[in-house]
Amino acid sequence: KYMTSAEIRQAFLDYFHDQGHEIVPSSPLIPGNDATLLFTNAGMVQFKDVFLGTDKRNYSRATTSQRCVRAGGKHNDLENVGYTARHHTFFEMLGNFSFGDYFKRDAIRFAWTFLTEVLGLPKEKLWVTVHHSDDEAEKIWKEEIGADPERFSKLDEDNFWAMGDTGPCGPCSEIFYDHGPDVAGGPPGSPDDDGDRYIEIWNIVFMQYNRSADGEMTPLEAPSIDTGMGLERIAAVMQNVHSNYEIDLFQNLLNAAAAELNVQDTTAKSLRVIADHIRSCAFLIVDGVLPSNEGRGYVLRRILRRAVRHGNKLGAKGAFFHKLVAPLVKEMGEAYPELVELQGQVERVILKEEEQFARTLDNGMALLEQAIADLDGKVISGETVFRLYDTYGFPVDLTADVAREHELSLDMDGFEQEMEQQRQRARASGQFSVDYNARIKVEGETRFSGYEAFEDRTEVVGLFRE
Ligand code: ATP
Ligand code: MG
Ligand code: MG
Ligand code: MG
Repeated sequence: KYMTSAEIRQAFLDYFHDQGHEIVPSSPLIPGNDATLLFTNAGMVQFKDVFLGTDKRNYSRATTSQRCVRAGGKHNDLENVGYTARHHTFFEMLGNFSFGDYFKRDAIRFAWTFLTEVLGLPKEKLWVTVHHSDDEAEKIWKEEIGADPERFSKLDEDNFWAMGDTGPCGPCSEIFYDHGPDVAGGPPGSPDDDGDRYIEIWNIVFMQYNRSADGEMTPLEAPSIDTGMGLERIAAVMQNVHSNYEIDLFQNLLNAAAAELNVQDTTAKSLRVIADHIRSCAFLIVDGVLPSNEGRGYVLRRILRRAVRHGNKLGAKGAFFHKLVAPLVKEMGEAYPELVELQGQVERVILKEEEQFARTLDNGMALLEQAIADLDGKVISGETVFRLYDTYGFPVDLTADVAREHELSLDMDGFEQEMEQQRQRARASGQFSVDYNARIKVEGETRFSGYEAFEDRTEVVGLFRE
């Protein structure tokens, strides 16, 4: 039956409250005391120390609806936005947690009961996976729950969850929803699975280890439970639509963006990117991030400029992005009062960044389009990428986004060489110049030491390298 996003959120919290869970508010997007993590990327982040045993709470079961951003670091979905039905940079994760209280059996039972009884989903539409080594979870699913062995698979990496390169982690069990044969793609783990027919809705993590920087895994004192279900994904299921972008939460935003940009087709890819990005940008600013040239601020700048570029592609005549804050407030202000409170500030920050980027965007795009027209081959030169970056303020992933639309890639080694030459010129002239490397080292300030710029760079451009 149809349920709104707000109804689903409430039903989830109510159900787990009835099962003895404390309802805990969402924590901010900037992790409180965690230098290893760029943004809150899952519900468990605010409980990390409780899992590790170094923090105690007066409850052993908790449930949350946590705002999350996945636009950098280990979990980065920036490149997926606009290309898949299920990924956002900003989303809400519904979760239930056990701190040394219940373990696999109850966690699995709670999830199954919530989906099949509270939400009333047909069992035949669900598919379950467990870690290939986890015979215990497999037994619970098959013998106690009665999961269909025909819709069950045992996978490797996909069924081992970690918050980041260090910290709590463990094997997991996931539940998928089959959106039906009209959508291309095979079941989880099959060769033709791209994740968009059988959409992963819920991950149940059996928290068992703490991973250290050298990769060693120490068992946690108390095995615990951490689960996460994307609100937008389960809303798509309950509202009988395939894409997250078709749910209630997004309709008003998309309509507002379409009206603002004078676009007729509310399913246009660029419009979806914009509707996604206004959420992450606004909430990051609410949580204290400002556009800058490094660290978290540079991730915000990248998302913001990317949105502005997509508006430009749709023919935006002037600054438009900040105007979407109001419809966002209308949509989400009730659940997030801090958004209402800071609306004016968020609008000003976005407008300023839009105006600043507008000065170079058109010329930069003209240069890029010319370079693409002149191209022979499939790779945009490092020199062009560098010039766009250095002179026109194009983050590398923005250039890569344009390149991808033309099925082209970037010469990142060439780009690196240009960067290196720039550094040497700066050094030779003895100026205290901007640390150019810091600009792409998005993780620089937040990662533990020992990570090299090279790795950080790869994260920024990630998928586009091939
Ligand atoms: P996927 O494989 O689809 O990228 P994931 O395995 O990376 O998802 P988890 O880390 O297991 O996701 O997060 C738990 C849940 O959070 C997922 O099952 C999904 O419902 C939701 N989720 C994860 N990433 C996103 C995203 N970028 N946008 C919306 N919901 C998400
Ligand atoms: Mg993912
Ligand atoms: Mg997954
Ligand atoms: Mg998962």
